[in-house]
Amino acid sequence: MSKLKPILMGAAFALSASPVLAQQEQFITIGTGGQTGVYYVVGQSICRLVNRQTAETGLRCTAPATGGSIANINAIKAGDMTMGVAQSDWQFHAYNGSSDYEGDAFDKLRAVFAVHPEPFTVVARADSEIANFEDLKGKRVNVGNPGSGSRGTMEIVLDAMGMSMDDFSLASELRPAEQSAALGDNQVDAITYTVGHPNGSIQEATSTVDARLVTVAGDAIDKLVEENPYYAKVTIPGGMYAGNDEGTETFGVKATFVTSSDIPEETVYQVVKAVFDNFDRFKGLHPAFADLEPEEMIADGNSAPLHPGAERYYREQGWIE
Ligand code: GLU
Repeated sequence: MSKLKPILMGAAFALSASPVLAQQEQFITIGTGGQTGVYYVVGQSICRLVNRQTAETGLRCTAPATGGSIANINAIKAGDMTMGVAQSDWQFHAYNGSSDYEGDAFDKLRAVFAVHPEPFTVVARADSEIANFEDLKGKRVNVGNPGSGSRGTMEIVLDAMGMSMDDFSLASELRPAEQSAALGDNQVDAITYTVGHPNGSIQEATSTVDARLVTVAGDAIDKLVEENPYYAKVTIPGGMYAGNDEGTETFGVKATFVTSSDIPEETVYQVVKAVFDNFDRFKGLHPAFADLEPEEMIADGNSAPLHPGAERYYREQGWIE
C-alpha cells in the first residue's frame, strides 16, 4: 500500500501540471470607441466570449475605450493593439493608402469580419431648425474627436458638399461620450456620429432634449455612394428614438473587425471561433447585432485581405472555398 502512494501523487501532479505547461497566457487587446457607442460593446462582447475559453486557449482579452476607427488602425499598426474595430471606409483607406493614409498604406492590415451597419448620423436640437445637412451652415456643430472614423467621414462629407469647418459658427471636437450632454445643454446645435443603431449616445441626446435626426442626401451624397464601394444609402428607421417617428435618409458604412498579418494565425482563429461558435449569444449582446448573418459578415465591407486565422475557421465551416 505505502509503495503506491508516491506513484499516485506523481500521477496527480502530472495531471494538474500539464494544462499549465500547455497554455502560456497570451494577452490580447481590442481597440473599440467611446463607451456610449457600439464598438465598445463589440469589443467587450468578443472579449467576454474569448475569456470563457481562457483555460483551453490561454488567451486573455481586454477591450478598452479608445478614440475610434483611425486610432485603432494606427494602434494595430504600431503593435500596441492586437485587433480593433474600424469603419469600412477607413479600412479601405488604410490598406490602399488613400485619403488620410495617402503615402502611408498599412499593407499588413487584415480583415477579420464585418459587423453592423453604421449610418452617418446627424442629430440637431429641434429649436435649431436644421432639417438637412446644408442647414448646418452658420450653426454650432460637434464634428467629433480626431482619431475617430466618424470625424474622418464628416470631413469627407463636408468636402463632397463643397463645405468646410469654416461654414460653422463653431466646430467642436467633443468625444461621443460628451456630445449628447453638450446638445442637451445648448452648447452645440447639432452632433455628428457614424455609429450603429440603436445606441446609447443618440438615445441620450434625444431623451434629454427635443432633437431630430437630420437628412443627409442630394447629388453630392449620390456621387459619394456611386464612386466608393464602401458607402451605401441607408435609412435610419423611424421609432428608434424619442421624437423621431419617421425614417431618416442618409448614407453609411459598416463596422469591421481588423487586425495585422503580424498577429499569429492561431490567435485570430481562436477569437473568430469564440465568436461564431457562440454566435446566438454574441447577437444577443446588442440590438445592433440582431440581423447579423455570418456569410454577409465575411463577404461585405472588407477591402483588406482576410487574416489566415479567420480564413481557416471560415473554410472549416464551408463559408469560403
Ligand atoms: N464609427 C465610430 C468611429 O470610428 C465609432 C462608433 C462606435 O463607437 O460605435 O469613430
